[in-house]
Amino acid sequence: MWNLAQLQNYLNRLGTSVLDLLYPPRCVGCQRWGEWLCTTCRGQIALIQPPWCPCCGRPMTRAQLCNICRDTPSCIQGIRAVAYYEGVLRDTIHHFKYRNKQMLAAPLASLLVDYLAEYPISADVIVPVPLHPRRLAERGYNQSALLAQCLSQALGWPVIEDSLIRVHHTQPQVEQLDAQARRENVQAAFVCQDNRLANAQVLLIDDVYTTGATLQACGQALRQRGVRSVWALTLAHGR
Ligand SMILES: [Zn+2]
Ligand SMILES: [Zn+2]
Repeated sequence: MWNLAQLQNYLNRLGTSVLDLLYPPRCVGCQRWGEWLCTTCRGQIALIQPPWCPCCGRPMTRAQLCNICRDTPSCIQGIRAVAYYEGVLRDTIHHFKYRNKQMLAAPLASLLVDYLAEYPISADVIVPVPLHPRRLAERGYNQSALLAQCLSQALGWPVIEDSLIRVHHTQPQVEQLDAQARRENVQAAFVCQDNRLANAQVLLIDDVYTTGATLQACGQALRQRGVRSVWALTLAHGR
């Protein structure tokens, strides 16, 4: 009889894993067997094309600051989102976040990798938007941290997950709140608890950008600890 390590070794040579045998990959978009997100469904994701607001990344007819960014100072140099939060990407993110499909981290992170190849952002370190410990315990994982780890593997940039922390448990039904309420909901929710990120160029990673309130609150906490610059990259932009 083979032990598990020998079996995995054999399967590695075949390009598969023990988990693939127990849970064969099935596309969350079209339900076809073989991959967690097939090439056809991936191709249907509505990528955001320039021009956009250089600050918040909002799609624009010309590359200029949007009305909101003109009036509101930002703690973040630039926020970018790969695609619109709709269709197959929305479904995939739902499976990833709420249905324990952690294996979707790799195909979703590959969208971030492809994006950065086309629209480079320079950074020294990747920081995922943290979850409150209570939420982390409920879900069992931080989806943004999984994305950050996959991105780190692809780019070779380090990830620091435990410097920026979430200290306030915010309301879970944030989708129902307007922009002002969201800002109040997350203000002071984050703290950077040590100096490891001081002088660094940080790339914040999150799954969905909605009003930017969460990212701004993270940016503020990072800047207060002497972080040199903060950029943010998310998978999806709600419109
Ligand atoms: Zn598919
Ligand atoms: Zn803007």
